[in-house]
Amino acid sequence: MKTMTCAQMGGPCEEKLSGNTPEELMGNAMHHLEAAHPQMAADVKATPADAPMMVEWNKKFMEDWGNTPDSE
Ligand SMILES: [Zn+2]
Repeated sequence: MKTMTCAQMGGPCEEKLSGNTPEELMGNAMHHLEAAHPQMAADVKATPADAPMMVEWNKKFMEDWGNTPDSE
């Protein structure tokens, strides 16, 4: 399992989020956004997945995922 903070994923707080796969972590991050930062969640959902901003975000996320060590 890997843990990243909300801020590492472009969010405004230091909440720790984790997942066993990038998809799982992304899903947990989305739940966190909906609960803690609903405006940001709405913005993300309104942005198409192939928008340059989202493509860049995904690239950075996958790099950060690769650089994050596994933990329990
Ligand atoms: Zn947050």
